[in-house]
Amino acid sequence: MSYQKPKGTTDILPGESELWQFIEKTAADVFSDYRFSEIRTPIFEQYEVFQRSSGETSDIVSKEMYDFEDKGNRHMALRPEGTAGVVRSYVENKLFGPEHVKPYKVWYKGPMFRYERPQSGRQRQFHQIGVEAFGSTSPDIDADIISMAINFLAKFNIIEYKLAINTLGDKETRQKYHEALIEYLKPFKNELSEDSKRRLEQNPLRILDSKDKKDQEIVKNAPSILDFLTEDSKEHFARVKKALNLLNIDYEVDSNMVRGLDYYNHTIFEVMVTDKAFDNKETTVIAGGRYNGLVEELGGPQTPGFGFGMGVERLMLLIDQQTKSDMSNNSLDVFIVTIGQEAQNESLVILDRLRKNNISADRDFLNKKVKGQFKMANNLNTKLVITLGEEEILSKKASLKIMETGDQLSVDFDDLVETIKKLMNN
Ligand code: ATP
Ligand code: MG
Repeated sequence: MSYQKPKGTTDILPGESELWQFIEKTAADVFSDYRFSEIRTPIFEQYEVFQRSSGETSDIVSKEMYDFEDKGNRHMALRPEGTAGVVRSYVENKLFGPEHVKPYKVWYKGPMFRYERPQSGRQRQFHQIGVEAFGSTSPDIDADIISMAINFLAKFNIIEYKLAINTLGDKETRQKYHEALIEYLKPFKNELSEDSKRRLEQNPLRILDSKDKKDQEIVKNAPSILDFLTEDSKEHFARVKKALNLLNIDYEVDSNMVRGLDYYNHTIFEVMVTDKAFDNKETTVIAGGRYNGLVEELGGPQTPGFGFGMGVERLMLLIDQQTKSDMSNNSLDVFIVTIGQEAQNESLVILDRLRKNNISADRDFLNKKVKGQFKMANNLNTKLVITLGEEEILSKKASLKIMETGDQLSVDFDDLVETIKKLMNN
């Protein structure tokens, strides 16, 4: 019997996991400069948490959710995205309380699950890093967070992108637009894809986002939501654009852009990149926007919110080889070559001491001959090699070789940590 990983999943192996750690650390650093703290919520929740937040008719809920009944007959689902769980937690833990600074800002990372057709950059278990800010209606925070997304990408030398923004306005805007859109689409009903025929009744805005060629042709001439904005919505969007201008961030307004999740209103945005990793097709890497009704939807007080999610696998595909190797610098500080049992004994003690002092260190554990041990030290890209033989044990002095220069010195066992630290700092 041979076993295989489930379709649409990947093993992240050593060699690549270092890069994942680097990305996660960069996220933590960048977001913390904007005062976001990490939040960790369960990877499964009550089904209704996602159903309510994403919307029953969203693709995520209607087609892509990994839901199941647990042994206690509860309807549960693996999270398809991060926001719903964070909002559930925000409400349950009363993070809206007066003791918390507003906006309340959190970020998360972790696996998400969607039953989709796997292809490059599209998996069934994938990873997102995302942020949410609760409690501010200010358009400035929309721009501030969009800018954080751009600054985050820049840390990976991703500076060529298209920032598309749009507004979905407020409830009144969407109600009026909804009607106008159905009015426009009705005559095309028989030409629409099967999916879009269904959407026409339930969620016509989603048709704007259809991946079907014919649908896309049809919606090209659809009315624009920008013509239906209320005064408030207009003002909010104008201020977002103004703030982006102040920050020197280029953007394109795409009035046909909608998002896959039903909870958005006012500002929505996507950061898209065209790259050979995506067959030169424009692909969304970061997407998000404003969701002023979502906290209420999940049982909390009226609280505005703004956030984004980023597909980590897609980001990974965009990081070039040079940047990758710069990041996954995984050389070893010290390797100890041992000759004889006494030396092996001593090496255990020295290794322990080095590691307790944050020096990475290793030795052979397969009883290799000396030549094999030196070869291993080379393969591990070791900076310093200590050799311990009979003589070194007797004199309690290690012979230390600096691999880059070939220089050798003899160091008292007791002085090893200090000497090595000095050498490493040079
Ligand atoms: P798409 O239109 O590409 O299906 P979406 O609207 O479903 O995207 P979101 O729900 O907004 O995407 O998720 C945010 C980001 O998460 C996406 O921009 C993408 O980078 C990533 N993402 C979404 N689904 C997947 C997946 N199945 N595999 C890998 N990454 C994904
Ligand atoms: Mg999708």
